[in-house]
Amino acid sequence: MSQNIEHVKCLIIGSGPAGYTAAIYAARADLKPVMYMGHEPGGQLTTTTEVENYPGYPTGVQGPKMMEDFKAQAERFKTDIRYGHATKVDFTGPVHKVFIDENTEIHADTVIIATGASAKWLGLPSEQKHRLNGSGVSACAVCDGFFFRGQEVAIVGGGDTAAEEATYLAKLCTKVYMIIRRDELRASKAMQHRAMNTPNIEIVWNSETVEVHGDKMVDGVTVKNVKTGELRKLTVTGFFVAIGHKPNTDIFKGWLDLDETGYIKATPGSSRTNIEGVFASGDAQDKIYRQAVTAAGTGCMAALDAERYLAAKGIH
Ligand code: NDP
Repeated sequence: MSQNIEHVKCLIIGSGPAGYTAAIYAARADLKPVMYMGHEPGGQLTTTTEVENYPGYPTGVQGPKMMEDFKAQAERFKTDIRYGHATKVDFTGPVHKVFIDENTEIHADTVIIATGASAKWLGLPSEQKHRLNGSGVSACAVCDGFFFRGQEVAIVGGGDTAAEEATYLAKLCTKVYMIIRRDELRASKAMQHRAMNTPNIEIVWNSETVEVHGDKMVDGVTVKNVKTGELRKLTVTGFFVAIGHKPNTDIFKGWLDLDETGYIKATPGSSRTNIEGVFASGDAQDKIYRQAVTAAGTGCMAALDAERYLAAKGIH
């Protein structure tokens, strides 16, 4: 039972680049946005190290610092930023109900979803150690590949993302091992063809990763052939994991149109969902690009769409 019910014009769920950009635009348009930051304030970028590809930071910036800057800019225009996690929604009526934790119920004229996605990990302790230390394990080749130029790296996964990232890495690195757990790739034929025909990509078939080595920095990976049991050590300085992402959209199931993997289906060219007044932005609706700058762009779109929706409804 909710203890507090509050009516807001614009509710933003999530605090990554999409959420903060939506907040900046919505606040400047006087929509008085309220943002709930979720379990991971600042989103995926708070777990990365240096960001070198976000325009406006010519010498690069640490991911957590960049998110502090986003937050400061949203606060400058008086976004009401709160701790709290959306646990349930009810999109039956013209006013959208969003339940925050156990005790708060928000009634919103517009909702901007910016709940993001989470990279899947193998779950090995050695993988997590280097991921959390930023010492050679990453789930984003486009973000971090540059740090490994001229070196040898490995990537796990056989889907389109892994194939695309392996070919991207192959341009920067001297050698890329692509570790595949079966004897075939899941990626589309075109992507498979590209990965298999890149001379400095070696596909390591039927193999699972046993351990990521390295004291301070990654210096190798041991893989085990699942058919023969044979162990092989790959000498690499970077270990990329590309085994899929999970969009954080569970609470919207049954309300919003989602694709077969859970991504919100937004109307192409807009942020509109199948529910009037509910807009989707960022990685929760994007399985292709997944960049901070594209998330920010769709956050901007969602705020502009919300503003137009409210104006058309005569809600001031
Ligand atoms: P996918 O789910 O398509 O592929 C995941 C890959 O990781 C599979 O090869 C899978 O192996 C492997 N994998 C999963 N878990 C493990 C594990 N624990 N250990 C080792 N390997 C594992 O994810 P993607 O991110 O590649 O793609 C997601 C969606 O986005 C797809 O629909 C894809 O087509 C789309 N996409 C499209 C792009 C484009 O059009 N340019 C670019 C990127 C993505 P297995 O096959 O054995 O299950």
